[in-house]
Order: sequence, then structure tokens, then C-alpha cells
Amino acid sequence: MDPNVLWQRPSLLNSFLFCKRQFYLNYYYIRGTNKLLKMGSYYHEEINKQDYPVNVDNIDWKRGVVHEHKKGDLRKNAVLQTYLYLKIMNMYNKRIKRAKITSIEKHKVVWLKYPDEEYENELEKIFKEIEDMKEIPPRKPRKYCKNCSLYDYCWVSE
Ligand code: SF4
Repeated sequence: MDPNVLWQRPSLLNSFLFCKRQFYLNYYYIRGTNKLLKMGSYYHEEINKQDYPVNVDNIDWKRGVVHEHKKGDLRKNAVLQTYLYLKIMNMYNKRIKRAKITSIEKHKVVWLKYPDEEYENELEKIFKEIEDMKEIPPRKPRKYCKNCSLYDYCWVSE
């Protein structure tokens, strides 16, 4: 598969980190039937259109900071996703060098700077893994399958 898809559709990184099978299906625009998820993607794709290449919550152009707000814990996946947004924004405008992720409910803040060697290495590994992905990953029962938009695709419609 073409890992460069992440430059045009960076939110696919979230699918990749969540479930590689979901990433594979989303790559081909198979998104499933979960109404909440569809509404969420409608909001991001149709309502939240911006002039710049990624849909982040806010940008402080003066200070060069990308702002993202999360509901709960600031998990590693969410941090890496924001780092990819930061990297793309830096490619778009060199003044953007930092990102601030704020957890609304946990009152926590994580700051990221660009470039960061650790996150760069992680992204490099992911790009390679996507490049080597030749077929749909097998389904594996996981506790979060029931909440996945592709549950019917994976487990019902055989
Ligand atoms: S239902 Fe489970 S296996 Fe299928 S895409 Fe979703 S998380 Fe992955």
C-alpha cells in the first residue's frame, strides 16, 4: 500500500494505530455503518473545511502552535496523531513548530515540538509497515470490535 496516503489523509494514522484491518478498509473508503462515526467524519470533512492541509482544532499562527483538544486521557496514539498533524503543518508553514494537546476532562496538557527524533522514528516504522502491507489483515476479536464502525463488515455480513 502507498504510505504517502498519510500526507493527504493523516487521520488514517488513527485507524492504523487502532486496528490495522480497519486502516486497510478505511484506506479503500470502506468505513462501515456506525452512525456516530459517520456524523463525526461528516463534521470533519464537510463542515470543518480549512484552508490549510489538516483539520486541527485551532492554530496560533503568531506563536506557531497547533492546538488539539481531546476528551479524556492523552494516550500515545493521540499524541502521535497530533505529531503527524504538526509535521504536515510545518511542511505547509515553517513557522509552525509546536503543538499543544489539552485534555478537556482530565485537565492535562502535552506539548510537542517539531522535529522530535522519537516520533520521527515511530512514523518511519509505520510508513514502512504500510508499504509492506499487501493484503487485508485478518480479523481478530478485540474488546473494542463491538464499538467499531466496521463490526458488521468483520463479524456479521459473511
Ligand atoms: S471490527 Fe474489530 S477487527 Fe474489524 S476493523 Fe473493527 S476493530 Fe478491526
